[in-house]
Amino acid sequence: MSFEEKLKTFRERYRAITVLGGVQGLLGWDQMVNMPHGAMAERGAQLHALGGIIYDMGTNPEFGQLIENLASEIPDLDADDPIAREIKLAKRQYDLATKVPKDKMMEMIMATTQAQGVWEKAKASNDYALFQPYLQKILDLSLEFVEYFKPYDHPYDALSNQFEPGMKSKEVKAIFDALRPRQVELIKAIGERPQPKDDFLYKRYDIAMQRKINYLVATLQGYDWSRGRMDESVHPFTTSFGMDDVRITTKYIENDASGAFFSTMHETGHALYELGLGRMYQGTSLGSVSSMALHESQSRLWENLVGRSKAFWSYFYPIYQAYFSEHLSGVSLDDFYKAINKVSPSLIRTESDEATYNLHIMLRFEIELAMLEGKINTKDLPEVWNEKMRDYLGVVPENDTTGVLQDVHWSGGMIGYFPSYALGNLIASQWWHKLSQDRPNTLDEIAKGDLSGVLAWLRENVHQHGSRYDAMDLVKRVTGEPLNPDYYMDYLNEKYREIYSI
Ligand SMILES: [Zn+2]
Repeated sequence: MSFEEKLKTFRERYRAITVLGGVQGLLGWDQMVNMPHGAMAERGAQLHALGGIIYDMGTNPEFGQLIENLASEIPDLDADDPIAREIKLAKRQYDLATKVPKDKMMEMIMATTQAQGVWEKAKASNDYALFQPYLQKILDLSLEFVEYFKPYDHPYDALSNQFEPGMKSKEVKAIFDALRPRQVELIKAIGERPQPKDDFLYKRYDIAMQRKINYLVATLQGYDWSRGRMDESVHPFTTSFGMDDVRITTKYIENDASGAFFSTMHETGHALYELGLGRMYQGTSLGSVSSMALHESQSRLWENLVGRSKAFWSYFYPIYQAYFSEHLSGVSLDDFYKAINKVSPSLIRTESDEATYNLHIMLRFEIELAMLEGKINTKDLPEVWNEKMRDYLGVVPENDTTGVLQDVHWSGGMIGYFPSYALGNLIASQWWHKLSQDRPNTLDEIAKGDLSGVLAWLRENVHQHGSRYDAMDLVKRVTGEPLNPDYYMDYLNEKYREIYSI
């Protein structure tokens, strides 16, 4: 067989796996959005069966040999060539997939499917004890997985590698250690200043109207409704079943309209990324986003650098005000802008302000490290959580629903994911700095309600590349320098020192 023939066969088989991955995603989406609670066991069986088929296809020795043959015909796999990269990534995925025995993979799918249902129930009824055995099971399985991925510097690296290829917990720790005192200093300075009024944000906001304004803002961001849709779920998320079906969810709370609004901008940011992947990479190992930090760099950029900017609201506030005139007719743009940017240590990560957000991540990162090192027993997690909340943020949750049970990640088996959020914040600021250099009129355009320039820049510099480059490599290629947390701190300092007159 010629190289071209082998490549064609390989691509057909790879594509079949990604197509089934889309079906798997659809079952997962349905579980979170539509499925009746009673169907949990049946759904678990369906995901289990499908997961088995996908596992078999992805670890098939013949498929592995095909990849191996292709790799051997490309002499330098690090060469800057898309096909070399495509094969290299497929090889990386194959090697990882074949390291975990099938029965273990199946056990993990079963455990996480069950745990998600239990977590929802436990969260709703403030019952950590109900969830604890399921979390323990996931932790035990994760520790078994880690063994398959030896050698590693730290067990954490073996798990986070699936979300952030190549990123080491040591590097994350160094970044967090450098950031923490600077963030704490800013938060402390803010804490000494009077707080803006924000009671108007927490009145009763009609949910039907919230839905309308959320559709409006997602449309303004450039979300293509012919290839996407928005539904509701306990925990907002974005999911992709392929290049032409990328869906988002949101969660409405009557007395907190801005929560759903910014969450929608966030998820739309994720969806725009998936919808902007290069069509030429469809169905290949390059046609997906391999770094969750890059993903978060998109969602956080839209949510915060665009969505919480003065430029955006100078355009959007009159519209927003018209939708909710009973609460906002007497509130000035400046007061509204300050209210949505109020910095106040709070309990819930997803609702936290930009200045304190990373502290929520550092707390989870430390807990995960300690869990993997066997230094924390899952039974003691609520106490550990509350203690760290006091230490990091100075607030303590009254119950586990707003504490240790708030996030979906652990029930989904995603230990090692959280740092991607914080890294995403840093990358977003670095993109923004470069974007503002490349397109100096960006803020003027945003103030006129034109967000297309932002999307066009992201499409060209980030989205289209898919998995063509590793995350940190792409950051360097686009911005001309490695990840630099200064952009993030400069952005926070500039913005918040103005808002709080520091
Ligand atoms: Zn996100």
